[in-house]
Amino acid sequence: MKPRRALILVIGLSSAISAVLLAWGGVRAAQQDQKKYSQTPTIEEYQPRSTLVTKEHKIERAKFPFIDIHSHHWNPTPEQADQLAKEMDSINLRVMVNLSGGTGEQLRQTVATMKGRHPDRFVVFANLSYDDIDTPGYGKRAAARLEHDVKSSGAQGLKIFKNFGMDVKYANGERVRADDPEFDPVWDKCAELGIPVLIHIAEPSPFFDPWDYHNERWLELKQFPGRARPPGRYPPFETLMAERNHLFAKHPRTNFIAAHLAFHGNDLERLGKTLDSLPNMYVDIAAVLAELGRQPYSAHDFLLKYQDRVLMGKDIYDVNEYKWYFRALETRDEYFEYYRPRHAFWRIYGFQVPDEVLKKVYYQNAMKLVPGIDPKPFPE
Ligand SMILES: [Zn+2]
Repeated sequence: MKPRRALILVIGLSSAISAVLLAWGGVRAAQQDQKKYSQTPTIEEYQPRSTLVTKEHKIERAKFPFIDIHSHHWNPTPEQADQLAKEMDSINLRVMVNLSGGTGEQLRQTVATMKGRHPDRFVVFANLSYDDIDTPGYGKRAAARLEHDVKSSGAQGLKIFKNFGMDVKYANGERVRADDPEFDPVWDKCAELGIPVLIHIAEPSPFFDPWDYHNERWLELKQFPGRARPPGRYPPFETLMAERNHLFAKHPRTNFIAAHLAFHGNDLERLGKTLDSLPNMYVDIAAVLAELGRQPYSAHDFLLKYQDRVLMGKDIYDVNEYKWYFRALETRDEYFEYYRPRHAFWRIYGFQVPDEVLKKVYYQNAMKLVPGIDPKPFPE
C-alpha cells in the first residue's frame, strides 16, 4: 500500500469510528432525555413553547402620552429622577405618580427632588404616619399634617398602603378598620383640598383562601409565604370589602381610587355593580392586567361601560414591563405570555379599546382627579 492511500484509509476509518461513537452518544443522550422528560415536571420546570402562529404586535411605546397613577419611588436621588425621566420618554410615559412620598420632611424632600428637576413629569402623593395613633385626636392631627404636605410641600394626593385595614392596630391590639371613624377628618380633608385618595384595601382573594392545590395563586404563595392572609391573623376578604365600601359611601365628596381593580378583576360584574353604587369610586389596573387579559371580551365591554372610572397604573416600576399594558389595551393579539408568571398560570389576550376610551384610561381620568397636571402635552 502506498503511504498516501494508507493515510486516507486511516482517516476514513477513524472518522467512521467517531461517527458511530457520536451516534451512540446521541442515542444515549436521547434515552436520558426521554427518561428525564417522561417524569412529571414541577410547575416551574414546565415551560411549553406555544406553537400558535398568529399576528403579533410588539408595542414599545404607548399610542398616546400617558399617566402612571401607581408607581413607587422611595427617597429618590436627583440622578434617579433624571434617569426616570429619560426612561419615561422612551415609552411615552408623560407623568409618573409616585405614591411613596411619605409625610413631613421626607415628603418635602421627595417633591423637591422629583418636581424640582422635572416639574411637569412627576406627581407625588403623601402617606399617613400612624406613629401617634394611640394619642387622642389622631384623625385631626393626621388631617392637619396632610394639609401641610399638600399646601406647603406640594403633595397632590394621598396614598393609603395595604397595611391599613389589616395590620395597623391600636396599642390594645384592636385592628384599625378601613371605615374607622377616627380617620373621617382625613377623608374630609381630601375632599376639601380637592385631592384623590389612592387606597389599597385587602389583597387578591386567593391569599385569604387555603393554600392548597386548588389555590390559583399557589406559586406566588410558595415564593412569598408572607403574602398569605390566613383567617387566624387576618379579617376575611369579604369583611375588608364591606368596610371599604362603607368608607367610600360615608365620604361621597372624596374621590377614592381603589388600587388593583379593587381586587375584583376576577369578577367584573361585581366590580361594575360596586362602581354603580359608589359614584366617587375609581380603580386602577396596576399589576392586575392578567385578570383583564384572560377575559378579553368582558374586559373590553367593562372598559367601554366604565371608561370614566378606570386609570392606567403599573405598580412596581420597570420600564420594560409597560409594553404588556400597551399590547393588551391597544391590540387584539392573542394568547401571549404575561410578564409575571406567579400572578398568572395563563396567557393573555388583547382587548383593544377605541381611542377615546384609551385616552380616558391613559390620562383623561387621572387629569380629572389629580390637581395640577399640565394638560398641554396631552391630545384633546
Ligand atoms: Zn402599589
